[in-house]
Parts: sequence; C-alpha cells; structure tokens
Amino acid sequence: MALFARKHKTPLGIYIHVPFCRNKCQYCDFYSIATNDDHLMRTFLQAICAHIKEAGALAPNYLVDTIYFGGGTPTYFGAAGMAAILTAIRKNFDVSSTAEITFEANPDSVSDALLRRLRNEGFNRVSLGIQCDNDEILRKIGRVHNYQQAVNAVKRIRRKRFRNLSVDLMYGLPGQTLDDWEETLRNVLQLEPEHISCYGLKVEEGTPLYTIQDMCNLPDDDAQADMYLSAIQILRDHGFRQYEISNFSRKGHVSRHNLKYWNGGEYLGFGPNASSDFGGRRFTAIRDLQGYIDGIKHGGQVLQDVQEVAPRERAGEYLMMRLRTTAGVDPKLYQQKYLLDFEPLEEYFLRCRQANLAEKTFDGRWRLTPKGFLVSNSIISDLLLIQERSVTGSNK
Ligand code: SF4
Repeated sequence: MALFARKHKTPLGIYIHVPFCRNKCQYCDFYSIATNDDHLMRTFLQAICAHIKEAGALAPNYLVDTIYFGGGTPTYFGAAGMAAILTAIRKNFDVSSTAEITFEANPDSVSDALLRRLRNEGFNRVSLGIQCDNDEILRKIGRVHNYQQAVNAVKRIRRKRFRNLSVDLMYGLPGQTLDDWEETLRNVLQLEPEHISCYGLKVEEGTPLYTIQDMCNLPDDDAQADMYLSAIQILRDHGFRQYEISNFSRKGHVSRHNLKYWNGGEYLGFGPNASSDFGGRRFTAIRDLQGYIDGIKHGGQVLQDVQEVAPRERAGEYLMMRLRTTAGVDPKLYQQKYLLDFEPLEEYFLRCRQANLAEKTFDGRWRLTPKGFLVSNSIISDLLLIQERSVTGSNK
C-alpha cells in the first residue's frame, strides 16, 4: 500500500543554498559571503534545518528525486554541516533511494576526509568549479585555486568512487584567447568528466570586475561567440551531447536536477536567496543571511516575491525554458496544455529556420541551433511578444 502511494507522489527537487565562500571571486554576483565565522555557520545550519522541517510538513505527497547543494561553496562549509542538512531532508521529506544528490565543490576545498564522508552519506554527484586551466587567468578573476589543484581534486573524487562528475568552465575571461579556451577544453577532457558546463563570462553590475572591466582585456562578443561555437564542436567530437545552452553530457549523465528547472518541474529552495516553484506558487527566500536566520528563529518573514503563476505565464515559461534545451518546444503539447494557438509561433520559427537559427525535429518539435542559442534571448522575447499579441488580439 505504501509503495502504491509512493508511486503516485509528485517528483520534487530540493536546492540548498550554502552562502559561504573562502574568497569572493571578481565576477561573482551569487549571494555568498567570504567568512570563516564558525558561530554564523552554526546558526545558519540550525536555521536551514528548522526551515526544512517546517516545509517537510507541507509536502507529504511529494517524492524527492533530486537534491542539489550549491552556493556559495558547500565544501568550504564542510562535510559535517552538509551531512546534517541532508539528514534533515531525509527526516522530513520522502527521499527516493535513487535520488541524484549533487554538491558543488571548489578544488581547494575537497579533502579525502570530506569526500569519504559525503560519499558515505549518499552524495553521488559532484560539480567541480574548475573554470579554466590557466593559473594567471584564474588569479585575475579571483579564484583561490590553481589548475594542478583541480587535477588533484578530480583524482581524489574518483578514488572516493564518485562516478558522476561535472565540471564548470568559463570562457570570455580576461586576456583569454580562442586558443587558450580550446586548450582548456582539451586538458579538461583528459580528466574524463561525465558532464561539462560552459558559461560565458557576464560582467554584472555591482561586482569588482564591473568597475575594472575596461582594464581587463576582455574578449568582445564576437570572440565569445567563437569560443562558444568551438566548445560545441570540440565537445561533440569527444562524445558529449549538448542538451542545454550551456550544458553537455555523456550518455545517461544529464543533470536531473537542472532539467527539472527547464522542464517546469517543482522544486523547493532553502537558504538565503534560494528560489522555489512549489504548489503553483513561486517564491524566493530573502537575500540576507542574518535576516534569514532571524526570520526562521523568530517566525518572521523569510519569503519574498510570492506569486501564483497564471496559466498564460506558464505557457511563456514553457517557451523560455524549453528553448534553452535541445529538446525544444512541442507544438502539440503547447496547444493541449495551455489551450493556445501555436500557428503564429510556427510562422516565426519558419523564419528562424531560414536564417539557420532554429530547426524542426523529425517528431515536430522546434529547437534552436547553436547559432540560435547565441541569440536565444532575442528569439525568446520575440516569441513572448507574439504569444501576447495572439492572446490579446493586439497588433502593437
Ligand atoms: S566560489 Fe562561486 S559562489 Fe563563491 S565567490 Fe566564487 S563564483 Fe561566487
């Protein structure tokens, strides 16, 4: 009976935001604090475990099939704290025995002891932030590790029987050339990861890099585009399948957690600035660590931007999210699920196909080509506008 009930539960992802780093990278606008304040870390741990307990009571009909520890740098926070959070999740949610359980790690904070503990606790996927193989560039962007540490970290991760390793790489870095980038890809391929994410550097307002960008010899947009297209080609030649704008995997190793975001699945986020899409509502925890801790402790407000998501907005999200993936959008599903006409979108896709920006799959789905991914933001905003006009009948 229990097994039958479990089969009918809704899949749920859990995201844990650990907001601590050893050092703040020059380009980073994630919510994280460079600190080694033990007391602060302990009170954060108490708060997030209490938050998990509170939310678990609201989700008896869900089965957790992915858990993702991001940040920040979870491995800097340490294995004991991560294990305590995972225990709190298991205690308060129904977690599948086949759940994908990922932690983000930086090469300077993965010791044998930490990896052993996390493997024994049930973590089964590692996302390692390598970024590039050039120590000079790593130093310029404020990373506290060098490439040899990344190589050593991969060896340790493998020795501790992690069979699912993802690495994060960045292109468009200060002084980086196309040759540098291709060399990074070739060197990292020798480490034999199962999954690679390639992100173009974005200079965000409010980061240290933003104020000094003119002095950093940053590759321009065309150079970044060349790096992106060369990554697609090199990774394809080495047996990786691109399944999302920035993500590539070997067969059977897509990130199940991230796919949940792109496929419109439900997820709950814990920790400051963590987002959720749960029970038809979207909300975000406040971007303030002390406020988050105090709010949980004293029963105050920790969630903001709580909104019910209207069906039409879901239809727009479907277009936005699915066009990030190589699965693309399915006209039949779009019409059946959202009761909207696909015809005006079809016309736009046909024009995109003429410009080699989109292609139609053998089973009728529309997806972007590599060239289309480069301009995905403007394609998506055009599609949203067309969708809006077709719903309201406006020609503006
Ligand atoms: S390690 Fe990651 S989260 Fe921390 S400062 Fe660097 S980029 Fe940001």
